[in-house]
Amino acid sequence: MNSAQLTRAREFLHAAGVRVTDSRAQVVATLMSDFHPLTSQELLARCLDLGEINRVTVYRVLELLVKRQLAEKIIAPDRSDRYCLSRLGWQNHHAHFYCQHCQSMHCLPSDPLKQESQSRMVQAYGTVTSWQGMFEGVCRECEKKSEKPPFGAE
Ligand SMILES: [Zn+2]
Ligand SMILES: [Zn+2]
Repeated sequence: MNSAQLTRAREFLHAAGVRVTDSRAQVVATLMSDFHPLTSQELLARCLDLGEINRVTVYRVLELLVKRQLAEKIIAPDRSDRYCLSRLGWQNHHAHFYCQHCQSMHCLPSDPLKQESQSRMVQAYGTVTSWQGMFEGVCRECEKKSEKPPFGAE
């Protein structure tokens, strides 16, 4: 983690109209450093490396980010909760790929055109506050490691 990342995190919070604090910037900077959702434990471990922050604060910041739709909370098929940054609002929510072998999860780039039509379709039913799309399968790393075919879908 370097100061440039923390600066970017501060700008992100500021642009979103959220009051900037050190702990908020630390959590956002940690989420920014990866393109896969982190479990709250991973996030906490990385934040602790940055300095003074405790578990309760990390959870509180995550709650705020999710509430403001700046971060997404994803419940993985293994039931762990994971977090990654969304951009502002519904338009920028994105889908994820989940590996059934190693439980890794990756953020997929969003498809704005597809989301635009989906957005209009769904909004006919109500106001959207969160959205989840998940592909499940076997990641390339796991495919490489194993010559054997992946275990069958459950
Ligand atoms: Zn895998
Ligand atoms: Zn993501």
